[in-house]
Amino acid sequence: MELYIYNTLHRRKELFVPLHAPHVGMYVCGPTVYGDAHLGHARPAITFDIVYRYLTHLGYKVRYVRNITDVGHLENDADEGEDKVAKKARLEQLEPMEVVQYYMNRYHKAMEALNVLPPSIEPQASGHIIEQIAFVQRILDAGYAYESEGSVYFDVEKYNRDHHYGVLSGRNIEDMRENTRELDGQSEKRHSIDFALWKKAAPEHIMRWPSPWSTGFPGWHLECSAMGTKYLGEEFDIHGGGMDLIFPHHEAEIAQSCAGLGHDSVKYWMHNNMITINGQKMGKSLGNFITLDEFFTGNHELLTQAYAPMTIRFFILQAHYRSTVDFSNEALQASEKGLERLLEGYTRLQKLKPSAQSSVDVAGLRAKCEEAMCDDLNTPMVISHLFEALKAVNLVHDGKATLSADDLTELQSVFHLFVEDLLGLQTADSLGTGLEAYKKAVDLLLDIRMEAKRNKDWTTSDRIRNELAAIGFEIKDTKDGVEWRL
Ligand code: ZN
Repeated sequence: MELYIYNTLHRRKELFVPLHAPHVGMYVCGPTVYGDAHLGHARPAITFDIVYRYLTHLGYKVRYVRNITDVGHLENDADEGEDKVAKKARLEQLEPMEVVQYYMNRYHKAMEALNVLPPSIEPQASGHIIEQIAFVQRILDAGYAYESEGSVYFDVEKYNRDHHYGVLSGRNIEDMRENTRELDGQSEKRHSIDFALWKKAAPEHIMRWPSPWSTGFPGWHLECSAMGTKYLGEEFDIHGGGMDLIFPHHEAEIAQSCAGLGHDSVKYWMHNNMITINGQKMGKSLGNFITLDEFFTGNHELLTQAYAPMTIRFFILQAHYRSTVDFSNEALQASEKGLERLLEGYTRLQKLKPSAQSSVDVAGLRAKCEEAMCDDLNTPMVISHLFEALKAVNLVHDGKATLSADDLTELQSVFHLFVEDLLGLQTADSLGTGLEAYKKAVDLLLDIRMEAKRNKDWTTSDRIRNELAAIGFEIKDTKDGVEWRL
């Protein structure tokens, strides 16, 4: 089956043909590490985790680069203002790299909880100053940048005469001029729409490096051009990120690469849509900025309960990555129930006994799920196919239908592939030995209760049942034994 992905650059779905099969290079813009990861970080991480997992499943050898922005990202994403990391360091009286390390560790922990696979390379901007300086020099040599008072700016007007600035975002340069004119108090720039490649550091600016132009720091957009080129080459397959990065960040990246290398580096630009909270954009000033940790603990005034990381992951996968997703407690609770049903059915499926013949048709499931993934990674469609198949599983479980050994093995294998390997949904079983031991301990208690019942020792059997119920266990006696869940 052939994979089609939506290329933001051409605004259409395109057949995915890697530049150098079986190798695939993928670059995704990672977080700026000056605060805890929030729901808006989970979406690109999970979206490109799915891309990474699916390409790997198709047999490609994927080099996945996801950067860490730890320098040069100024307040309001602008060319003026304090560096976000440096500001945090100043307020907390820490070394900037202490801030970076602290939030990077916490980001990794949150990503692990969401079962997002680590990238192949995770370069930090501050570790690639030499590469960034060399990239600025290439753009200067090509004539698309100029030095001014120790800073270097990208000459957007000149670039736009030879290329097209706005090719990714679809914006036109007149509108961009209009929008930047009023902010234009900086006479250093030739044109208000020019952006910084290198900034001379003000005396109070703590993150600074020597360069041919001044002691200073790189512009925000530059790191991705420099590090993408370093690790994936001058041309690579996929560049991803959230839609909010299309302009100015990715537009500027394209301009930098075209100016410095003579061509855009990227064959397919992919962008995930945004998450809104109760219909509103997320923002610190709006008070609806919920970090992943707050979701996991339920510790935020907008949350009526805690949500497991897998619920968040499932919630995000229930929408296509190019659709908007609106968070609400109701929506997350619905996802929680849906995931529970899916995983319950999956566990049930693993315990089914085969019959001589099948009375339900489950043969097409694998092809249908692959087809959905090949159609621009349509995860909600995959999920709906899995739920459809669970109807057959439940019929067999209830003794109202049968599955042959071959059909049962196939169904189990498709579920394992899509639920665990590709959607990355972790069942209690896949969460490791600690949980396994805990489950065995509960089973043991229930065995003792059964024994007590057989011996008509009602005091013991009731005590076990009631005290487990008080902790939150739901225990159901069935004809085959006991089913329980927390
Ligand atoms: Zn970037």
